[in-house]
Amino acid sequence: MDGSSEAARSGRAGFRKIKIFDTTLRDGEQSPGMSMNLPEKIEMARQLERMGVDIIEAGFAISSPGDFENVKTIAETLKDSVVASLARASKLDIDRAWEAVKGAVSPRIHVFLATSGLHMKHKLNMTPDQVYEQAVEMTKLAARYCADVEFSAEDATRSDRGFLAKVIGGTIAAGATTINLPDTVGYTTPDEHYDFFMDMRERVPALEKVTMSSHCHNDLGLAVANSLAAIRAGVAQVECTVNGIGERAGNAALEEIVMTLFVRRESYKAETNIHTEEIMHASNMLTGITGVGVQPNKAIVGANAFAHEAGIHQHGVLSNPLTYEIMTPESVGLKESNLVLGKHSGRHAFGERLKRLGYDISKDELTKVFRKFKILADKNKVVSDSDISALVDETMVGEGAVGESSVGEQSIGETAFGEN
Ligand code: MN
Repeated sequence: MDGSSEAARSGRAGFRKIKIFDTTLRDGEQSPGMSMNLPEKIEMARQLERMGVDIIEAGFAISSPGDFENVKTIAETLKDSVVASLARASKLDIDRAWEAVKGAVSPRIHVFLATSGLHMKHKLNMTPDQVYEQAVEMTKLAARYCADVEFSAEDATRSDRGFLAKVIGGTIAAGATTINLPDTVGYTTPDEHYDFFMDMRERVPALEKVTMSSHCHNDLGLAVANSLAAIRAGVAQVECTVNGIGERAGNAALEEIVMTLFVRRESYKAETNIHTEEIMHASNMLTGITGVGVQPNKAIVGANAFAHEAGIHQHGVLSNPLTYEIMTPESVGLKESNLVLGKHSGRHAFGERLKRLGYDISKDELTKVFRKFKILADKNKVVSDSDISALVDETMVGEGAVGESSVGEQSIGETAFGEN
């Protein structure tokens, strides 16, 4: 790790600490195509812990025997991160959640119940009074087991604020130590979300004594912006996932929130415990496990997110990297050597690079592309990722193996790099 993340861990004077609650293994895993088995979940959980995630939601213990085992094993494996299990506001769920997390060094039970009119009427079939009673009673039960209890008011952003305030007050009195107000359906906007949290703080003074948390979904592409607005309004915990995976359009992306707080720390006066240079590793691990990649232009972790770096080397005119970089590739765990390939690079390094760029090609194909690469490297001295992609696409298209669209995107990228 580098000095900057050490500084973040030690804490800067006047900076608020924002806890990162990662739900890649719960909300993330709930989305289509993202199922993970036990060894995969443990591998991912270890990486999240290594990255400095404060709270890891390991699963939903009652949802299946497999998920129970996953949560239990992760709880017993990790040492530094808090390990949480989700539970509906019912005795059966909470008992099961506690069974799963009680072996953790730092266990948490995460109880949730919906508070919006829509959910109470059409999903729960309960009156607001019944919801209030159940939220309070079940929070009390969880607090008897565990000192660390989070209560989430599902669909909080579409709930009646007077009623929501009552539920928040009741669950804090019942022992909740974290109050999470999710934008479950990704409906809110940054300005509205800021006002929402400021309003709830005014309505429920007891919120100042607990950790206030946000959980945003990306249905309108605003999950990260909404999370940052919530931070500005005083939340001290944000719930998010690696690569932004999660129900429907996903959750707020961990790497985007963390790097915004890192790059714009003077603006937010806030910091996290995340070792940012572990971000790429976590992203690649998740992609490798699930087989679901991120789009090339994905912020922070996309294949093109730092592609300009190669252009800078090609031109060799940059006297100060800050001219074109708001963050270094190294700060998210990309090694510069991975970004620069020249005529001295060997076939092995070249093959590794192709793998990292997402190409899975045969030995014969590798030989062909490598030959073209050497010719280009002689001419250009430095060969960028986009050059390499173009070489592969050109070679594969010649054989009819790669679709039109990737070639089209690549040539657009080339033009942009050349002109900028
Ligand atoms: Mn969610």
